[in-house]
Order: sequence, then C-alpha cells, then structure tokens
Amino acid sequence: MHKSLLVGNFKMNPTSQEEVDQYLAVLKREAGNKRFTRVEAILCPPDVFLSKFDTLPEGFHSGAQNMFWEKSGAFTGEISPAMLKSLGIDYVILGHSERRALFGETDEIVKQKVDAALKHFLVPIVCVGESRVERDQGQLDTVLQRQLQSIFAGVSKLQAGEIVLAYEPRWAIGTDILPTTSEILQVRILIKKILGELFDGATAEKTRVLYGGSVKHAFLAAVSWEAQMDGVLVGRESLSPYEMIKMAESLEAAESEHV
Ligand code: PEP
Repeated sequence: MHKSLLVGNFKMNPTSQEEVDQYLAVLKREAGNKRFTRVEAILCPPDVFLSKFDTLPEGFHSGAQNMFWEKSGAFTGEISPAMLKSLGIDYVILGHSERRALFGETDEIVKQKVDAALKHFLVPIVCVGESRVERDQGQLDTVLQRQLQSIFAGVSKLQAGEIVLAYEPRWAIGTDILPTTSEILQVRILIKKILGELFDGATAEKTRVLYGGSVKHAFLAAVSWEAQMDGVLVGRESLSPYEMIKMAESLEAAESEHV
C-alpha cells in the first residue's frame, strides 16, 4: 500500500535531554490512539538522542540526519551505517543542502553514502535541488540531471526503487519562500523523466519523491498531494510535536481520500 512520508529533520536541535523527553511526552500524548496506517512519519533527531526515539507511536519511526560511508575505523567524529542499523534505524537523510554548503559534501561524497546506505539496508532519503542563482539562470534541469545521475550510477533497478528523493530547492529552505504547486509538480515530472531515462518507467514510478523547504501545515496540501508528491521533508516545524501530529493527520486523511 502506498504511504505518504513525513520526514522531520531536527537539525542541531533540541539542545538538552530534558527537551527531548518533553517532545516525546507530548508526541505520545497527542498521538493518543490515533491510527496512522497510511503515513510513515520519520523523526530525525541529532544522533546523540536517537536511542530515546526507540518507542514511538504507531506510524512513527526514527531516522538519522547523516552518516559516513565506512563501517568502522579511524574516522573521528563519524557515525557508520552499521551503527545506525544496530540501533534499529531504517532511514537516513543524505546530501542535505546544509551538508553540501557548510561541510563540503560533493555529489561524489553523497554518492558514496548512498551506496553505503543501500549496502546496509538503510533507506536513503537523498536531498537534491537547485540554488536561486541556478534556477534564475535556467539550470534547474542540468542540476537535477547531474545530481540524479550521480546518485543512481551503478544502482540496480530494484535498489533504485528503495531510494527516496527529497526535492529541496535551496532557496526555499529556512526562508518561508516556497515554489508554487505547479513548479513542484514540474520538478516531479522532470525527476520521473530523468529516472525513466536512467532505468525505465516502472522504476521511475516506484521511486518516491518528497518536497522540502519551509513546509508548514498551512502549505501541506499545496506542496504535497496537490503537487503529486509522496510526502514532505520538514525542518523547523518538525520541532513541534503538535505540528508533526497535525501534518500526519492531514496526510493520513489525504491518502484515505485517494484510495
Ligand atoms: C530542511 O532543513 O530540510 C528544511 C526543509 O527546513 P525548513 O523546513 O525549516 O525550511
């Protein structure tokens, strides 16, 4: 059954165990006995708090915001795919634009991480998207083509269907400036076209594509189901358990309507 994805990227927040405990207490209370069967919500806190997220309400899972590609060794400060798996984690965000812009992650680095995630049976949620300048200069197609070619190089059709793409235009992250529904839909079509050329129509259809960038509940319909996306990646708003439950409920309701 098709499920919408609701990914919450906490980034480097919150700053204490007490705040995490409070978040989880509210999340569990607000989820109550609501049933989320058509939405998969994935909360991605900082790694140091991941173990606190091992018992979540139905439909909620935990994920990581990043990882290194090696399994173990002399890589000070890094977290490996094997470590995430041993915590029972199934999802990892890779290639977030902040990783690319602030920590020098190139397409090649992101690619190594995608391959490592697949090798360890982690679902990679890979961020792609253009900068404002690239969009204004008409380079959207070229940028996405380059990013997708790198991500999917050497990946089997079967594995390609496991990869989740998060289309996050860089200019929409943290800015409260969003693309229109039709602009998002055009990108979805473009991504599917590129995947169709790299693989085939069936594989392109299977690969889920999310929208990310200044998502809040009020914009959910416009950036998600109206734009035919498979869900959303949420930054700031994911820091409120109330908002996450509200968005999960709306995605659940939208999925039920489309059955
Ligand atoms: C993000 O960090 O991926 C993101 C989408 O952030 P925000 O929702 O705060 O724009």
